[in-house]
Amino acid sequence: MPFHPGIASEDAEAGFGEVDYRLQRQRLLRDIASGIADRAEACEIHPELIRVARKAAPRTGNSCPLCNENELRLVAYVFGPRLGPGGRCVISDDELQRIARRQGDFVSYEVEVCAKCGWNHLLRRYPLS
Ligand SMILES: [Zn+2]
Repeated sequence: MPFHPGIASEDAEAGFGEVDYRLQRQRLLRDIASGIADRAEACEIHPELIRVARKAAPRTGNSCPLCNENELRLVAYVFGPRLGPGGRCVISDDELQRIARRQGDFVSYEVEVCAKCGWNHLLRRYPLS
């Protein structure tokens, strides 16, 4: 499932446990390889996400599982009090820690992004504390 900030914010209200999405990722990649899933759909990307990935997001050291031509970037979206309905896109650990020190419950979503083909997938979400 491509990452859409608006959808994630609804999901964030459902609970605050840690969720790992790596299994879904593997399954989706397998389905794309065997033609069950649509590659174009997997590469639909929110314009903000690709802008951030191109500009400033940290590199992961892994290459894109779909196009193999680009290094994946890691983008985090944080949802919580006063961060707005779409959450806040966070690319530095410092900023993440500043938010974690605030009052209230915050959830961070880690998304890997290929700025070349648009592949993007949730890796995990976890509560900030
Ligand atoms: Zn790619």
